[in-house]
Amino acid sequence: MSGADYIVVGSGSGGAPVVRRLLEAGASVILIEAGESTLGVPEIEDAAGWFALQSGRWDWGHRYTPTERILGREIPIPRGLGLGGSSATNAMMWYRGVPADYARWDAVAPGWGWDDCLPAFRACETWHGAPDALRGEDGPMQITPPDPDHPLTQAMLGGARSMGLPENADPNGSEPLGVALANFNIGPDGRRWTSAMGYLEPVLNHPGLTLLTGARATEVLFDGDRACGVTVWRSGQSERLEATRGVILAAGALETPRLLQLSGIGPEAELARLGLPLRIRAEGVGENLQDHPLIRALNFRASRPLGPMKGNGGGTLTIWKSDAALEQADLLAFPVQGRSAVPALWDHYDLEGDVFAIGLGVMRSHSKGRMRLGGAAPDAPLDIQPNLLSDPRDLQALIRGVEFLQDMVASAGFGDLFAGYAAPDTKLTGAATETFVRRATSTFFHCCGTARMGQGDDAPVTPRLAVKGARGLWVADASVIPDIPACHTHAPVTMIGERAAQFVLEDQ
Ligand SMILES: Cc1cc2nc3c(=O)[nH]c(=O)nc-3n(C[C@H](O)[C@H](O)[C@H](O)COP(=O)(O)OP(=O)(O)OC[C@H]3O[C@@H](n4cnc5c(N)ncnc54)[C@H](O)[C@@H]3O)c2cc1C
Repeated sequence: MSGADYIVVGSGSGGAPVVRRLLEAGASVILIEAGESTLGVPEIEDAAGWFALQSGRWDWGHRYTPTERILGREIPIPRGLGLGGSSATNAMMWYRGVPADYARWDAVAPGWGWDDCLPAFRACETWHGAPDALRGEDGPMQITPPDPDHPLTQAMLGGARSMGLPENADPNGSEPLGVALANFNIGPDGRRWTSAMGYLEPVLNHPGLTLLTGARATEVLFDGDRACGVTVWRSGQSERLEATRGVILAAGALETPRLLQLSGIGPEAELARLGLPLRIRAEGVGENLQDHPLIRALNFRASRPLGPMKGNGGGTLTIWKSDAALEQADLLAFPVQGRSAVPALWDHYDLEGDVFAIGLGVMRSHSKGRMRLGGAAPDAPLDIQPNLLSDPRDLQALIRGVEFLQDMVASAGFGDLFAGYAAPDTKLTGAATETFVRRATSTFFHCCGTARMGQGDDAPVTPRLAVKGARGLWVADASVIPDIPACHTHAPVTMIGERAAQFVLEDQ
């Protein structure tokens, strides 16, 4: 049995920083990644091509289970399968959220307030926009603002102004409400900048690193209550790997709760149903699944061809409140320099010709669900149910958001790009808007929360990211998020990875 000080399972947004920081501290690390290397792969580096990565070779192929609330549709929930995890396939938006998001974390997991997290956020990034004390200058992730010259970018800025929203210098500045040029994890040379490029590529030849790609962890091994290794499936064989100081799970919000349960850590009744032996009773594993519902998307006829895609095909973030009485902005819209539609919209509307789209998400969302294992085999299909739109506040916010955006494209500030409605194909109100929302709701790709951190008994992970009841076992990915922040999740999970390494080193 070969070994190292630590084993890290998963090389994505959370795992990559853990590996890098443990190596820098002098530890030896085995990194286990189920997918293959993404480094230097043209289709991964092509920022405008990210849509094509949502299925196929670089994706796990998971699905959300249908409900009547979304008209019985099954929704694919892509998760990156390869070095860099979902950072290698995602849409590259880099948005960290605001103090109010982290105040909610801090309330259940003390030590996660904005001021606690800001140093780690700064350590993540090299920001190429205007210098700001809130931004990082020499971190592994290259973060750039987009080229503002695209006609749709200008229309989004002007349209928001027409609707009375302020213009922001930076959504990652002190107040994101309004419209701003987005931030992207795209390098200055225009390539997608993955967590593998930022955190792992510079240490690939480090003597302390053993990188195993195409290797799937299937169980955490224990010596008493101490995690001492993992079982891995690689090249058609099962292998045992030893960790003398501990194991860090960073397999993401769907695979980490699976791995915990396969290792006997989970809800008692669930483990009994699956025929898995109980090691640690942890009722919260697989519960508290959250995601942002995304309208994908509102499509509009363009008065002229938009030309080739720039950047990730977007360019701005519009952030506003569906109801002025809300404390925190709950809606976020972004442009798409082309058509964008779930299959139910393709079936229902004519999307031929020059078309642009606007995606709309509820970011301060309230619906919650859970995920369950379909069986005790390590690759059994998952039953993943986020219960999108189950909280009426999420539905209402989207209805208001659709009506706002339909007005915005027709406003004077949007300019002459808008030439008519495509999907929806007419101006909507009332029940018609609700039907459109149910038909077009999809995932914002931000699933999280399935092994949440917190002080309460319902949280399987401590605020220092250790699995309760075990020694030498930590979680460092989107699973630990107790309450979904009103932002995209790549930046928050990178920050979690930075802090996880610090906790692992301090809490030996
Ligand atoms: C299509 C898409 C678009 C998105 N767009 C954005 C965006 O624009 N901005 C944003 O902020 N967020 C976006 N996200 C979300 C964001 O990328 C994720 O929230 C974040 O990357 C999650 O990080 P993680 O570490 O939890 O998981 P991941 O980054 O998914 O990493 C998990 C890693 O573990 C590996 N793994 C899993 N199980 C095992 C196992 N048993 N053994 C070995 N390895 C295993 C996986 O292959 C993967 O590499 C998007 C996600 C997707 C998929």
